[in-house]
Amino acid sequence: MNGTSRPLRIGVLALQGAFLEHSLMVRRLGAEPSEVRRPEQLEAVDGLILPGGESTTMGLVAERWGLVEPLRAWVHSGRPIWGTCAGMILLANRATGQKEGGQPLLGGLDVTVNRNYFGRQVDSFETVLEVPIFDPPQSPGIFIRAPGITQIGPEVEPLAALPGPVYVAVRQGPILATAFHPELTSDTRWHALFLQMVRAAETV
Ligand code: GLN
Repeated sequence: MNGTSRPLRIGVLALQGAFLEHSLMVRRLGAEPSEVRRPEQLEAVDGLILPGGESTTMGLVAERWGLVEPLRAWVHSGRPIWGTCAGMILLANRATGQKEGGQPLLGGLDVTVNRNYFGRQVDSFETVLEVPIFDPPQSPGIFIRAPGITQIGPEVEPLAALPGPVYVAVRQGPILATAFHPELTSDTRWHALFLQMVRAAETV
């Protein structure tokens, strides 16, 4: 626990995309979700989720609202962060398949992400992932215009992959990234894993 008995506060970046579902899941697990739209709101949370949506738009809105530097500082200070789908793209050190003119990335996660690895909107699909750290390891994966991780650095721990091979879930210290949308399923284990990471960071 975090020294006191207060529940963990989990910020969910609420600029655009699927933030509401993350908040519901966080609440279900007994933590307190908090929508983040302004830099100062980052001060009040123990961990941060970057939701799915559209990474170029999310990056541009974050830039306009003065959030890019505060978010970079968050990641680089080693505070716990989890990016799903578009959020995962924002966390990548390197991205391919970007829109013309590129997009602001936060970086921090030593991977190369292909922004639309699994194709366009019509290519959305659902599958069962094998996640060795879970028991049982089967976990549903909902992929919506999903990115894929094509290359990982030595510090990055793969958590799930699909034939390609392409990584779809990885962890690097306090950074978690998933290419799919656990918040749209009834499997709470990804959120539980992230809460565990946040709790671990609180006790160091
Ligand atoms: N491929 C999308 C992007 O570039 C992400 C899709 C999603 O988050 N569902 O942002």
